Amino acid sequence: MTARPPQDAGAANTDDDGRAAAAAARAFEARHETLDDFHYPDGIRIAVNFTADFDAMLFRRALNEPPMQKAKGEFGGRVGIWRLIELFDAHGVKATFFTPGRICELYPQSLRAAAASGHELADHMWEHLTPESDELQRDHIERTAAALAEICGERPVGTRSYYRQAHLKDAGHLYNSEGTSSRLPYYAADEKRENCLLILPFHYAIDDAQFYNFGWLKSEPQAQRLTDPERIMDMWWSAFEQQYALGNGYLNICLHPFVSGRALRTRLLGQLIERMKEKPGVWFPTCAQLARYVLAEFPPKSLKF
Ligand SMILES: [Zn+2]
Repeated sequence: MTARPPQDAGAANTDDDGRAAAAAARAFEARHETLDDFHYPDGIRIAVNFTADFDAMLFRRALNEPPMQKAKGEFGGRVGIWRLIELFDAHGVKATFFTPGRICELYPQSLRAAAASGHELADHMWEHLTPESDELQRDHIERTAAALAEICGERPVGTRSYYRQAHLKDAGHLYNSEGTSSRLPYYAADEKRENCLLILPFHYAIDDAQFYNFGWLKSEPQAQRLTDPERIMDMWWSAFEQQYALGNGYLNICLHPFVSGRALRTRLLGQLIERMKEKPGVWFPTCAQLARYVLAEFPPKSLKF
């Protein structure tokens, strides 16, 4: 009996891998639904969601980063958040603040100010961690919902998190602002094709921390960067123009108070918003406002919400 040549063994593995990848792609497709005929109300060409993840020092602590990184997070809670609220208020933009529940104990005044200005407070985990057990996930979701409701009078209807969707649905969440599977909002169900949520996608290319923060997610020194704000605004303006030209564009710009709350960046963000407002048909809703519009006008066809 002759030994099987190594390349045959490799080919068999490749076929198996290919079949597995194809099956995974089909399963993914079966639990996702894109909005093929999506459009905005008359006169609107693009929705821009300004979203801010109010992590402060919590995520820095979770990653056990050095003291200076934690101090940067603290700046976000003491100063940056106020600058972003003032920025959005000055330009008439309604933003969504994805807020870990613990932040309600640390910086309640800023959250009350954000809510009083009409901004949305949404879930961003309890202490910026996703526990594995179902029981703890439910506990964290509920604790955050109660803490946010105590601040603003309403339970959150949206999240930016990786909890199991069954728990998010049970807690009353309508949308999750994560994922990048489409340029427009889309629907995603879990592996059983149940517990469908609306996904409001964002992308790291329009996330401030990728450009302005060294040491992001424990990156190695050679991966660290501190980019000129003007360059970022040029890139985000290009992203806006490309989506605007389509006539049914969507942009979800992800900010962090400890990152974009620095003076030079806040100032340039104001200029970017003003530039966007010069064009007709630009809508700055909260994520909840957009989610409710999509759910009412474009409910899922094959998935059950
Ligand atoms: Zn975060």
